[in-house]
Amino acid sequence: MTATAVATGAILVLGSAAPAIAGTGPGHGGDRHTSVSQQLQRAVSAHSIEKRLRTFQWIADRYDGNRAAGTEGHEKTAAYIEKLLKRAGYSTERQPFSYEKVNIDRAEFSQVSPDPVDYVLEDEFYPMDYSGEGAVEEGAVTPVDINLDGDRASTSGCEAEDFAGFPAGDIALVQRGSCDFATKAANAEAAGASAVVVFNQGNDVPGDDRFGVIFGTLGELGIGIPVLGTSFEIGETLATATDPTVSIVLETTTVTVDTFNLLARSKKGDPTEQVVVGAHLDSVAEGPGINDNGTGSATILEVALKLAKLKAKPANQLVFAWWSGEEDGLQGSDYYVSQLGEEGVANTALNLNFDMVGSPNPVRFVYDGDGSEFGDEGPEGSAEIEATFVEHFASKGLETAPTEFDGRSDYAAFIDAGIPAGGLFTGAEGIKTEEEAAIFGGTAGEPYDPCYHQACDTKDNVDGAVLGQMADAVAHAVATFGSVSSWGWGWHGHHGHDGSWKKWNKNHGWDGRGFHGSHGGDGKR
Ligand SMILES: [Zn+2]
Repeated sequence: MTATAVATGAILVLGSAAPAIAGTGPGHGGDRHTSVSQQLQRAVSAHSIEKRLRTFQWIADRYDGNRAAGTEGHEKTAAYIEKLLKRAGYSTERQPFSYEKVNIDRAEFSQVSPDPVDYVLEDEFYPMDYSGEGAVEEGAVTPVDINLDGDRASTSGCEAEDFAGFPAGDIALVQRGSCDFATKAANAEAAGASAVVVFNQGNDVPGDDRFGVIFGTLGELGIGIPVLGTSFEIGETLATATDPTVSIVLETTTVTVDTFNLLARSKKGDPTEQVVVGAHLDSVAEGPGINDNGTGSATILEVALKLAKLKAKPANQLVFAWWSGEEDGLQGSDYYVSQLGEEGVANTALNLNFDMVGSPNPVRFVYDGDGSEFGDEGPEGSAEIEATFVEHFASKGLETAPTEFDGRSDYAAFIDAGIPAGGLFTGAEGIKTEEEAAIFGGTAGEPYDPCYHQACDTKDNVDGAVLGQMADAVAHAVATFGSVSSWGWGWHGHHGHDGSWKKWNKNHGWDGRGFHGSHGGDGKR
């Protein structure tokens, strides 16, 4: 999971159609997809996936405890997957790309007056990705257009006018909300601020932490002053203190990361109807990343391998993608989409994304493709992907909950390109609610994944039961959207379609609307 915000397009519901016609498929004497889906679900198990996770763990243990982009740990994991895919008959491709990454060498933040205190890195503050460097000794803090009362609606720092009268050299104290962190920091720098402290908004947003320390990104290099994220509580303390002064030291090193996406395409299937099944393979530097995102990577691997074993034939070409650089800002999936070009985008039917599908305190989240919960519907077709997952789980008597297209994973670039997307997620740093615990079990008041982005995200940080449930849903979605048959026939669907999902939708009377919004709403990582 990483950087933020997206927006969307319109909707139609396919999911409900597909399962309903089970038993009425080609020749209408029994739908072969259903059987492929079930065969695949049977073949892919939590047990087979956990075997792969143990290997990912073993690799991380051998290579500095992580599988971050650009490291041996990542390269060895990719080579392991590549070997298995080739053995199964897939043609694989490494898609190399590079990007700049800012590593933190020294970060200090302390209140000098009125109440001297040294704030703790990670627990109480964290530098924004791509923040500038610098040191400010006992700098005066000036709040900028903040709102601590009521709903705490905030456009703090979003307009240059917010900085009217801002004393140059002061440290700007701004509140999260409305625009991205990069905009707030740029306006502050333009107003002569020596540094920026962004505190969390302090408003209630279901499933989103609006009080804790902000781990954010500025999206790219460019801001020349230190920019720190902190909690609502610390922001409120500084905002209400009398003549507060703070000291900040931030030293960073910018490195170039050379890495690659690993791609495997099915030999069969219409290449103008590509179904991109993606999961990021890189971990954070802090740990082996077994739940985030070994679980997604190993699940799509097992689906690909078992499909080959079943000699299943997709009518729509399947592109399995192990993205890199996700933890550094969705770098790999961004790069892949940026290389597609107009024709490549047109030939991409949809994207399925699986990022963290084995959380130890899980919820069965399905991306809110129709925007019914969060209002951010995906491009035309995303609703069908959501419906297909929801109905699959319902057919197993399993409840689900919608999760927002908040731009924090690799579907974002596809949605930005107008390509329908969807997928599954079992929760990261968010806190499980009482209602969720009543439905999904586990512990209310605790994070879905207490080891999110930490060294303890090991093979012991995975819930096997939810992983198995998620794996079945992934298998079903790949079989459904790939229009996979094991008899080598394309899927003719009860309307005599050639399995092309785009044509299917068109024939289901769309009321599509345009696509709006851009990548990276506010930059929460
Ligand atoms: Zn992730």
